[in-house]
Amino acid sequence: MDTETVTTKPKKSTPALPKQKPPPVIILHGQLEDHKAFQKLLTDTAKGGYTLKYTKRRTTIQVANKRDWETLCRQLEMREISHHTYTCVEDKTHGFVLKGLDFEPEIEDLKDELREENIPCEKLFKMRGTKRPAYLIITTKDVTLSQLQRHKYVILNTRVTWERHYNNRKITQCHTCQEWGHATLNCKSKPKCLKCAGPHRVADCDPDLVNLKCANCDGNHAANNPDCPTYVRKIQEIKKSEEPQKKFVEAPPPKSNPWRKLPATPANTATTGTSNATIAHTRPQQGYPQQRSPTKCSAPNSVSAATRECANLFSALTELKAACNISEMVRAINDLNALLKEASTKAEKFLVFTQFTEQLDSYDI
Ligand SMILES: [Zn+2]
Ligand SMILES: [Zn+2]
Ligand SMILES: [Zn+2]
Repeated sequence: MDTETVTTKPKKSTPALPKQKPPPVIILHGQLEDHKAFQKLLTDTAKGGYTLKYTKRRTTIQVANKRDWETLCRQLEMREISHHTYTCVEDKTHGFVLKGLDFEPEIEDLKDELREENIPCEKLFKMRGTKRPAYLIITTKDVTLSQLQRHKYVILNTRVTWERHYNNRKITQCHTCQEWGHATLNCKSKPKCLKCAGPHRVADCDPDLVNLKCANCDGNHAANNPDCPTYVRKIQEIKKSEEPQKKFVEAPPPKSNPWRKLPATPANTATTGTSNATIAHTRPQQGYPQQRSPTKCSAPNSVSAATRECANLFSALTELKAACNISEMVRAINDLNALLKEASTKAEKFLVFTQFTEQLDSYDI
């Protein structure tokens, strides 16, 4: 057993708070030299109770409510205990890509315009490396793509298109500690250099550095190298978790005729005789094709036909998988369906459809 869990009961005097639990705070293992003092800190901070989970490298703390989570984060930061956490569900944001403003308005002008259009824009960036000007807009999580597409298609007197923003990388890398899986914003660890893994930010690294060292695997590459074994392993883990749990396994052919085991009914015993058990499964002879041999059972054939059909289906799916990204295709179809549901007239549906085809680039089909 490499894990151990400690739980304290919430105190009765705690006022009622939202039921949803905040995200866990994760502390890197090795920081806790004095567990007793640390547990006292938790008892004093997490008034609603807490649960600790020790693993080989980390200690995970789950508190009961957002207020405790915020207090604990503050306390850990004050004590300079390296940790990271995740964004609370209610604080999550949505990212959208705005295209069509080829005259490249100033960021501030665009911000003002979005404000006037009642789009709660939290952050706004001009995207780099796009063929035509594109802006990344971060909004609160109550703003949806369909709302924007339906109501905000003219910005600064220009016809625009909205797309959902996706990270190209499947996993976030923290620019402070270089670990994969949490955002820089949520990390309060001591910095590790991207290039040399030293205890400084990459901007402060030796400009004449020759030997790169990865903060995640100690290899001689920068920590954001896509060939880093740690990154490759994480991506494989994600891919594995995205695979359907149940894979198709072709059933073995039946060793014996399963139909034989069915008890003979009076109807078929009457027409075929009890000695011929192989046709005990057949329906009463009424209307049954006469040319079919009564002693030949068709069940194995139909089983193998079904197996063949399944095999054909799966080989077709394999071909499809080679030709396109099925999960992205399904995602696109689902998104289109969701948008079409909100359109009531034919004209609206047509508009939704044409707008959707324009943004197919955002799907990795
Ligand atoms: Zn970090
Ligand atoms: Zn460095
Ligand atoms: Zn590495």
